[in-house]
Amino acid sequence: MSSDPAARAGAILEVDLAALAENWRRVAAQSAPAEAAAVVKANAYGLGLRQAGPALWRAGARTFFTAQLDEALTLRPLLPQAAIYVLNGLMRGAEGDYLAHDLRPVLNTLEELARWRRACGARPRPAALHLDTGMSRLGLDARELAVLTAEPERAAGLQLTHLMSHLASAEAADQSQSEEQLREFAHALAALRPALGAAGGSLANSPGVFLGPRYRFALTRPGSALYGVNPTPKEPNPMRQVVRLKGKILQVREIDAPRGVGYGATWRAQDRTRIATLAVGYADGYLRSLSNRGRAVIEGHEVPVVGRVSMDLITLDVSALPERTAQPGGFAELVGPAMPVDRVAEAAGTIGYEILTSLGGRYHRVYSSGDTAELGA
Ligand SMILES: *Cc1c(COP(=O)(O)O)cnc(C)c1O
Repeated sequence: MSSDPAARAGAILEVDLAALAENWRRVAAQSAPAEAAAVVKANAYGLGLRQAGPALWRAGARTFFTAQLDEALTLRPLLPQAAIYVLNGLMRGAEGDYLAHDLRPVLNTLEELARWRRACGARPRPAALHLDTGMSRLGLDARELAVLTAEPERAAGLQLTHLMSHLASAEAADQSQSEEQLREFAHALAALRPALGAAGGSLANSPGVFLGPRYRFALTRPGSALYGVNPTPKEPNPMRQVVRLKGKILQVREIDAPRGVGYGATWRAQDRTRIATLAVGYADGYLRSLSNRGRAVIEGHEVPVVGRVSMDLITLDVSALPERTAQPGGFAELVGPAMPVDRVAEAAGTIGYEILTSLGGRYHRVYSSGDTAELGA
């Protein structure tokens, strides 16, 4: 029999599915009377689609968004009843997969719209239509919007459920771009009514939900807030932390003489220093930009990452801690309730989204929902 995987692993990633469910319910309450979907792209922002998807369904989510078709194909057998949309659109040559598995493309161009119509034949199937109002990435542009407004029959025989667009700056203190997008979106929703039929609107991502009721339309599309990222950056985080990353202490050493720590000796111990070495590195998604900037928490004490983040290791200055507190086999919290994902992101010079989606594949993952814990696949 092999040993306990937690004993073998360099770090443990705990995913609190009860907190995830509570976060969805909070955003859903904030979204009402609009429906709140759940955005689960990129492996549910790094947490694990196979566990997060069903947990969100049990919380009450009925509409899901993935980025890629393969993510939707993974989710389908887990959630046979859910409405599953594919944000990246209708992949050429894969139209049969959407039909066979009852998946809904977010149609990003008039060409995709025409191709979906052909693929569906006489039997219209649900899809959403995406309009670009300020991202300049995906969705109908102004020219295509004008064409569809003038020729609504292009959408005849289609079952369009939503017209959607995406906010570029919903978390910004300055709401002027969001207001501009909102105006453009509402205008297009009215102009496209003959083409859209009964389709509702969908504009708000997580921070968009908190911009007020005008932004919510029929369906909101929260992602990051579900996973603990603050959707209201100017105010305290209304969301619970969902992940806790605990790095294992491999070794603790005493340094008496001045001496460098880590690659490039970017940090030097001056006098008596205790260094704890943890089995987590940039190969695990603990970003190298956290070198000399990250912080960790050991039994309630905050300590700094010193020296460069290595591929497989980081070093903490634990001199200020009582000696018995940091010991080999013990743990330091690198992300979690004591070190929220937004704080880690700020130290790394990035956003919480990137911290979560970078979470590594070597962690021993433990999924808990209330009082039961199950191991991740
Ligand atoms: C990722 C994404 C969302 C979710 O955004 P969050 O800021 O994570 O809530 C919503 N809509 C679209 C189109 C997206 O790509």
